[in-house]
Amino acid sequence: MKITVLTLFPEMIKPLLNSSILKRAQDQQLVDFEIINYRDFSTNKHKTVDDTPYGGGAGMVLSVEPIYYALTSIENYETAYKILLTPQGKTYNQELANKLVYKENLILICGHYEGFDDRIRDYVDVEISIGDYVLTGGEIGALAIIDSVVRMVPGVIGDEGSYINDSFYSGLLDYPQYTKPRDFKGKKVPEVLLNGNHKLIDKWRKEKQIERTKQRRPDLLEKYQKNNK
Ligand code: SAM
Repeated sequence: MKITVLTLFPEMIKPLLNSSILKRAQDQQLVDFEIINYRDFSTNKHKTVDDTPYGGGAGMVLSVEPIYYALTSIENYETAYKILLTPQGKTYNQELANKLVYKENLILICGHYEGFDDRIRDYVDVEISIGDYVLTGGEIGALAIIDSVVRMVPGVIGDEGSYINDSFYSGLLDYPQYTKPRDFKGKKVPEVLLNGNHKLIDKWRKEKQIERTKQRRPDLLEKYQKNNK
């Protein structure tokens, strides 16, 4: 899988792509990251990539040309799946992540300042928001998408078993996890996890997933029960 990020602030992206599991995924050639700076596609001698908004108003708007030329400079950009980060997009969730992991080439387009010239919307496949709040730029959203997708690329965190019980993947929240010590200030690890009976452990975990989801996200449980009738 190849993931390209278009941004005016590569320094916001690079450190995270070069840490922990994302770095390991690159080292193992399971994923290839590319960062492109709009600045390199400025169409004027001052290398500016933004301008004041037509009609007036506060702040600066990223111009359509540098974004367009940065985008079309990417090999296979036509067939790549192009995502525009915007608070006005579809709200990101695990269901979307599960679909993105099957794309061979992803392009993430980050806005900044007051946003981007609206005409860039015509060149993307989907607009994604990472939640109902406004960030200064699309970079944090792009990283959230990259992280959630790359961890599901086969081989990145082991086999599929490592994430299928994660919250949301199956439609339920995850079950409670414990590690040593068995007893911490009188708070004991549930007995069922200590007896090595995997049938009983699986049953207990499933019950806990349902109980937790019912308590914390009844909306998810309702959807899960409908889908699993
Ligand atoms: N004026 C824009 C609006 O209200 O729709 C917000 C611009 S925001 C300050 C600058 C950039 O940050 C956006 O163009 C987008 O790329 C990114 N951004 C901000 N909040 C976001 C969110 N919730 N999800 C995804 N991207 C976001």
